[in-house]
Amino acid sequence: MFSKILIANRGEIALRIIRACRELGVQTVVVYSEADRNAAYLHQADETICIGPAEPAESYLNIPRIISAAEISNVEAIHPGYGFLAENAHFAEVCQECKIAFIGPSPESMRLLGDKVQARNLAKHAKVQIAPGSEGSVENEEEAAKLAEKIGYPVIIKASAGGGGRGMRIAHNEVNLRSAFHNAQTEAATAFKNSELYLEKYLEQARHVEVQILADQAGNVVHLWERDCSLQRRHQKVIEETPSPALDNNLREELCKAAVRLVKAANYVNAGTVEFLLDKKMKYYFSEVNTRIQVEHPITEMVTGIDLLKWQLRIAAGEHLKLRQRDIKQQGVAIECRINAEDPANGFQPCPGRIERFISPGGFGVRLDTHAHAGYVISPRYDSLIGKLIVHQKTRPEAIACMKRALQEFHIEPIKTTISLCLEILSHPQFSKGKIDTGFIERTW
Ligand code: ADP
Repeated sequence: MFSKILIANRGEIALRIIRACRELGVQTVVVYSEADRNAAYLHQADETICIGPAEPAESYLNIPRIISAAEISNVEAIHPGYGFLAENAHFAEVCQECKIAFIGPSPESMRLLGDKVQARNLAKHAKVQIAPGSEGSVENEEEAAKLAEKIGYPVIIKASAGGGGRGMRIAHNEVNLRSAFHNAQTEAATAFKNSELYLEKYLEQARHVEVQILADQAGNVVHLWERDCSLQRRHQKVIEETPSPALDNNLREELCKAAVRLVKAANYVNAGTVEFLLDKKMKYYFSEVNTRIQVEHPITEMVTGIDLLKWQLRIAAGEHLKLRQRDIKQQGVAIECRINAEDPANGFQPCPGRIERFISPGGFGVRLDTHAHAGYVISPRYDSLIGKLIVHQKTRPEAIACMKRALQEFHIEPIKTTISLCLEILSHPQFSKGKIDTGFIERTW
């Protein structure tokens, strides 16, 4: 195991990584921007280094500054968390060149899977069903219109290098498609510095189900079952749960086996997630691979009893997986609500500012992953996630009741948050029945 690592991230995930390291006896160096200088989680680190101003390009996205911090503090590895540089293959390569272990997959598999067109081809090769769509990238409007006619509307235009729910456009007819294509191209060029687009059949009322994977350097791969992340707003997850209420055991096994086949074909190492979409007939299609730890990883930890962060560190340090597939069981039901500093009554406008009152929930089966507290100032510079509320109970009705109770206990003032929205969703009869899809929130609220 490493003796000291650097955490190239902030907020709740930085704290999550510190906690795993502490339990493993690994020292932590946490880098921070000037905007985070007063953050309480920094006190939990063994060392902290300021790497620049609030602007991400000057700090959390600045590779030379992070590498300098790593060299000065003499760490053996870097954990990138999620977001920022977590899926940046160039960063992983620089770490490699500097003889610092990158706690994640190799730059090669990140590059391969980060390109969604290549990932679709790989899935095909691994005999994993993909949604009908373009063979490769689509060059122009004409080509897109011809293809859309062939696969049938509605279609979704996606950026090859896309992520975070951005750069996607749904088109219901040719007029739509032509303007959407142009806009998507411009957005992709600005957001991802890569204007390459591809086309897929848009699956209406789809469910998003993803499979958690762990793979070691010796080629051992296990899955830790699925998470249902169908509750989304603008393609961003809001509430996640496991097991998925939509799957029966046969389909669950099939999906998980497909995910393992795919990551084996990519020679993938470390923790990763294979995302699928399920159509109304419960046919599943590969969507993408996320080559990092995900925000929603705690629900998998709760039902399997396996600490994913610790395994990320062990795998990067060269340890082999001691977990056998048949011993990895889903026990009970876990749900996660993302608590964002946003105003649901006002178009989900971000609500930065100082938290004056922070009363956190607790009790049996409740886990709260947060870096926030009374007196914490939410910066407008970073994403609005201020915490993740997770519950774990024996059955789904018990988990729902527990989550409702925990949300009712949770008070963050005067900042507006998504606590009220989560409570409304949890109280909705459609949610109780498990009959939800990726469009449910937008249709209902
Ligand atoms: P990102 O990497 O930006 O998160 P994904 O490919 O994972 O993009 O898609 C995010 C979400 O967009 C999915 O969970 C789903 O809600 C929606 N989506 C993507 N592709 C399709 C599709 N072909 N049909 C229906 N919805 C889709």
